[in-house]
Amino acid sequence: MIREDSQRLIAEFIRVCQKLHRAGLIAATDGNVSCRFSAELLYITPSGLPKGDLQAGDILTVDMEGLVVEGSRKPSSEIRMHLLVYRNRPDVFAIVHAHPPMLTALTLAGIPFQADCLPEVWLTIGSVPTAPYATPSTEEVPQSIAPFLESHEALLLERHGSLTFGRTLNEAYLRLEKLEHAAHTLFYAYLLKQKMPLPLSLEAMKKLEELGKMGM
Ligand code: 13P
Ligand code: ZN
Repeated sequence: MIREDSQRLIAEFIRVCQKLHRAGLIAATDGNVSCRFSAELLYITPSGLPKGDLQAGDILTVDMEGLVVEGSRKPSSEIRMHLLVYRNRPDVFAIVHAHPPMLTALTLAGIPFQADCLPEVWLTIGSVPTAPYATPSTEEVPQSIAPFLESHEALLLERHGSLTFGRTLNEAYLRLEKLEHAAHTLFYAYLLKQKMPLPLSLEAMKKLEELGKMGM
């Protein structure tokens, strides 16, 4: 990759970190972000810093074994989770891990995220399973997400947060933004009705499937 491309990617990386903080999807030193920089190298956030305040020099370059190739800081404590996703999903180029309040509250309440209630969530992201509780920053986290990697673009981590994938950093970010927004909508519906909303009808789902096949 030429130098200009890597500068543009780092600028997008920092913009996404700032947006995460401004949108309240992370607080304090929460969350981590990574993206593929080449076939063998990744950019990843440093551990323990406020991700909304990062500068270009804070971003680390690591290889697919997690070894630091460039940068003086310590890579994210969730680096094993990021590496597992890249190893299993060649179609994923960027990963955002955040602590979105409403999505995380759903996992605390033991309520699955019902992606099949909202047509555009279903069409663009599909089902969003919750990976069972794992101690943050440990090997337990990749173990808990492993069974869900194959066919999902987003996961919730029980009592912890979210994990969204994308072909670009912005796509991974926008998927998270959409899911947190949808979680608010589902919550309002729950308050109004005193129970969780019903999924879309089978007929409506079939029509969405057709739209999906047409690339919508
Ligand atoms: P890091 O700062 O080490 O990436 O940790 C933040 C986090 O959200 C851990 O789950
Ligand atoms: Zn976390």
